[in-house]
Amino acid sequence: MLLQTERLLVAQYGRKLIPAGLTAGTGGNLSVRDSRTGYIAVSPSGMEYDAISPADVTVVSPDGTVADGARRPTSELAMHLGFYAARPNRHAVVHTHSPAATALACLRRSLPPMSYLVALSGRDEVPCAPYRDFGSPALAQAAVETAGGCDAVLLANHGLVCLGKDLDAAFQLAEELEFCAGVYLRCLAAGAEPVLLTKEEMARARERFGAYGQPKGDE
Ligand SMILES: [Zn+2]
Repeated sequence: MLLQTERLLVAQYGRKLIPAGLTAGTGGNLSVRDSRTGYIAVSPSGMEYDAISPADVTVVSPDGTVADGARRPTSELAMHLGFYAARPNRHAVVHTHSPAATALACLRRSLPPMSYLVALSGRDEVPCAPYRDFGSPALAQAAVETAGGCDAVLLANHGLVCLGKDLDAAFQLAEELEFCAGVYLRCLAAGAEPVLLTKEEMARARERFGAYGQPKGDE
């Protein structure tokens, strides 16, 4: 079986999505790229996460051709491929339908630097991509272009996408940003905008997060 380790990771982290409050039902999807071969292990389309075994995880080449596995890959495969093509140093993509991040995306607002945790994204602010049909090449393009060098992007009226050097980093980023989005919405619900951190404060946070920063040439 091709990419056995990566397929196991996709199955394992997929099972964590619902208990972590990051998605509901079969929503969201995740993938890991093997940096050696460039092949990508991606969650299957429309399967309950707790029913996905490593054999159900599909392996595709960088152009999306199925290399191994009997299941149809996620309907957002184009988005995963787009991020891998644009970000050679990122090897995992986690797409969630988490409620707070999605609510923010329905307001079509970016997530501002209201917490130092936003710096985990590698930027001061997580942008919101314009609405495009789910599963469409247009959504893939809008998400990748809007994210730019940021490790996360909100999808208008849809959800959140996080990138990482590995699946653990991408998953953790999704958890932290969902927390931040929830706190930001509470601030707005209290009738006020939170006091935002300065560029200097965010730069220090990024520096302290170290590995999550954006060193030169690490786009
Ligand atoms: Zn989605």
